[in-house]
Amino acid sequence: MHYYAIDLESFVFSGAWKYARLTGEERKRADNGTLVRHVEQLLELLRSCGVKLTFFAVGEIHDWYPDLLAAVRAEGHEIGWHTHRHTYLYRPGNIGGELALSRDFIGAFGIRGFQAPAIVMNRADYPALAAAGIRYSASVYSALPPYEVDGVREVPVSTHPYGGREIPVRYPARMGFGMLARELPFGSSLFLKVLGWKWVSRLIRDAEKRGRSANLFVHNWQLFDEPRTARMDRLWENFRNPLTIPYRFNVREEFTCLLKEHEFGRLDGALGEAPAPPAPERARPSGGGDARQDGRDGRAANREATCVRACI
Ligand SMILES: [Zn+2]
Repeated sequence: MHYYAIDLESFVFSGAWKYARLTGEERKRADNGTLVRHVEQLLELLRSCGVKLTFFAVGEIHDWYPDLLAAVRAEGHEIGWHTHRHTYLYRPGNIGGELALSRDFIGAFGIRGFQAPAIVMNRADYPALAAAGIRYSASVYSALPPYEVDGVREVPVSTHPYGGREIPVRYPARMGFGMLARELPFGSSLFLKVLGWKWVSRLIRDAEKRGRSANLFVHNWQLFDEPRTARMDRLWENFRNPLTIPYRFNVREEFTCLLKEHEFGRLDGALGEAPAPPAPERARPSGGGDARQDGRDGRAANREATCVRACI
């Protein structure tokens, strides 16, 4: 069993200053329903592929839409935490404020898993996670198997070391040119378009041969369309960090082909416990994609979302 998590976030958490200074309610208005559309499309895609995954959600989403994440969970997916406002944890201790803001959300969902934004985790922050009831984290890049840190199981996002030798984790294990010189973090969806799904698939099989589960993640906004203004906003991040440029490409096709090719499951499976049994299939809302307001033909949107396309 491998793992493919979804980082669930809106473009208003992209780090652009004009959103950072808004209130939560104002950010919700700026998002203008984009996130809800993405969740609907994503659930449809995962349903058609017959997989149950982990959604690492930004906690403020729960403030915006108190029922949305419950609907995701009701389909058998796991809800994990991705900080409250997508705050980067470059500085040790930043996690404390985020945990306080998300306390109700973490408690209400009995959240057990965490993924740090940009996969930047400080070694000193694990005890705060453990104290909040978080049991596992997927917040470093490494080819190592899951390991324990201060009461939290760290399940590294997969890398492929070029020399075949596993490299010890140095905190924070952030992606940069230094890391890229030693190992390829193929667990990041950043490389999905660049490498192509077949190459990523080979690396997953390679991990399999070494007796390891591969651990990957993708963002909702890499799979479905965003408003034009959001794409412009993301340019800021591209200028700030040119490594993020491959994020501009849609990877829905590549993601879907990997889901067809390999067996993926919820990350809480890495705790060595049987995941909660999936809830019975919910009735689909009548009209399918008709509720979408993006003007596209509902049937065409449904066809796009099926998991039975050819992967060449
Ligand atoms: Zn994120």
